[in-house]
Amino acid sequence: MQPLDSEKSLIKISHCNKDIFGSSVPKHCPLCGQSLVYRKLEEAPVSIPSPFVNGHRERCSFLLKPTTGTFLSGYDGSSDLHVGITNTKGLVYNYNEAGVHKAEHGWEQCVNIPLVQPDMYGLLEQWDLYLEQFSAAEIWLPHRYDEHLHNCYTYALMFINCVLSAQKQQPMNKSEFTEKFVIPRTRKASKYITIYKEICKNGFYTVDHPSQEGGTSTVGRLTS
Ligand SMILES: [Zn+2]
Repeated sequence: MQPLDSEKSLIKISHCNKDIFGSSVPKHCPLCGQSLVYRKLEEAPVSIPSPFVNGHRERCSFLLKPTTGTFLSGYDGSSDLHVGITNTKGLVYNYNEAGVHKAEHGWEQCVNIPLVQPDMYGLLEQWDLYLEQFSAAEIWLPHRYDEHLHNCYTYALMFINCVLSAQKQQPMNKSEFTEKFVIPRTRKASKYITIYKEICKNGFYTVDHPSQEGGTSTVGRLTS
């Protein structure tokens, strides 16, 4: 298996009535061998951006990654996930059975949900202090940890709700936050993982062209 850069875009072209995914723009169709000149607009290569970012470069974000390994290596679709919140300097605050950690590395391949608009200067200025004070609270001591009821997600969501309440906004419960923000991104990520793994294995990955099938291809929606 040839590992690819996890932050690199994948490429989709259409030929032989199929969508063909690869790691770069091919000169020849991998199916029929025909030289590709991309004369028609519908044949033009489309870039599929990676859903993963280096979390240490994302400020004021909610991050999600597998507890062990990475999404593109070792993750089987049902492995445990771990979440954290970044400060403005790329430190990832996260909570587990050993308490709150401020990670300088280990979050290089994450799904991220930005929590602050770039023009919210007041909040950006306060963010690191908020996060530090919030994390120092007694409820995040190691013995308070519970795998199901008081975990990394409890910690991250409670912090988000503290920020929302400071801005006089309504809090969100776990299912609201998950459905509205997390699931759309993990769905996109899981499609990317499928394509990525096939490309690593075979060099390219094909799906029947939606217009030829008369149905909608789930993979095709990755670009939307
Ligand atoms: Zn072809």
